[in-house]
Amino acid sequence: MEGYRGVWVFIEQNEGEIEGVSLELLGAGRKLADKLEVPLAGVLLGDGVIPLSSKVISYGADKVYVIDHPVLKHYRTESFMRGVIQLAEKYKPEIFLYGATPNGKDLASAVATDLCTGLTADTTMLDVDVEKRLLEASRPAFGGNIMATILCKKHRPQMATVRPKVMKALEPDDHKQGSIIEETISLKEEDMRTKVINIVKDVTKTASLAEAHVIVCGGKGMGDVQNFQLIHELAETIGASVGGTRDVVEAGWLPHEYQIGQTGETVTPKVYFAIGISGAIQHVVGMKNSELIIAINKDPNAPIFDVATYGIVGDALEIVPKLIKQFKEIRK
Ligand code: FAD
Repeated sequence: MEGYRGVWVFIEQNEGEIEGVSLELLGAGRKLADKLEVPLAGVLLGDGVIPLSSKVISYGADKVYVIDHPVLKHYRTESFMRGVIQLAEKYKPEIFLYGATPNGKDLASAVATDLCTGLTADTTMLDVDVEKRLLEASRPAFGGNIMATILCKKHRPQMATVRPKVMKALEPDDHKQGSIIEETISLKEEDMRTKVINIVKDVTKTASLAEAHVIVCGGKGMGDVQNFQLIHELAETIGASVGGTRDVVEAGWLPHEYQIGQTGETVTPKVYFAIGISGAIQHVVGMKNSELIIAINKDPNAPIFDVATYGIVGDALEIVPKLIKQFKEIRK
């Protein structure tokens, strides 16, 4: 346990673009590293990724461990896991953070299993007990009814995946100095059990909720699934993503991945329409950091108006068609 020092962040990149969550984690990792008085390192794997190291440093890392290898061109559990484990066994970090993205979750669980250590999934808060050098990883538990703080007392590294958009990235500092440590790995394409044959890009029109700049979110106040089509129509008219409350998801009007709130997605768009939504705390925690919130509700005392930038008191079934008409005219 004593030999493990330093805070690491897995830097997820796709085709040379670093994922936003990795930059956010460098911000969160910086605070933990400063409290523990240890360096913060980014872990960067891929093919032709060395030039990304300077960006990792500018967002807060003191060091970047890089494995640049053609076999790491596309994410695969086997190759990435081998690279990350090699680094972790050699340099022994005490804390290791990953984005709670599909690849981040996949990699973190495989690495935790191999290193025989603990992993807290979908963390929403991070802190550290400096005296005991323990990571305090908090997340909603038991269906969101409590916040559980999970500790990994007996194994190292202490690992956590963290949801996108929960932590804040630092302002990049292009003058920040750091070291780049290049490592080699003996991987051969013919030894890989999985092959990437083809990559088919998702061609859905709307952005994922976490990345969306504009979200039109509908609530139970829309009445029924037919009326809810107005939410889709408004979103389509203005090029926004659609979201819903838990009650909407439970009613079967939208699949779960569209749910915003404590047990759904956390979002921070530039504009958030909250239509027919009461503003229950479990919903508000997932959207309150939106830059501009426009609420439509027929109840002037609805709590959603407490967090709204602009509020329209009235019947959504009358107001939304008018908005759609207006936006369509503006677009002409
Ligand atoms: P309602 O609370 O029923 O509100 C409907 C609103 O629409 C009302 O304010 C009403 O005045 C208004 N309205 C009605 N008709 C009209 C009309 N014609 N025009 C305009 N306004 C109208 N909820 C989430 O959203 N996300 C979560 O992640 C989540 N997690 C939860 C976790 C736990 C552990 C628990 C206990 C609850 C969770 N909830 C979550 C549920 C949450 O508590 C609320 O029940 C839910 O957000 C309410 O959804 P709603 O606003 O769509 O519906």
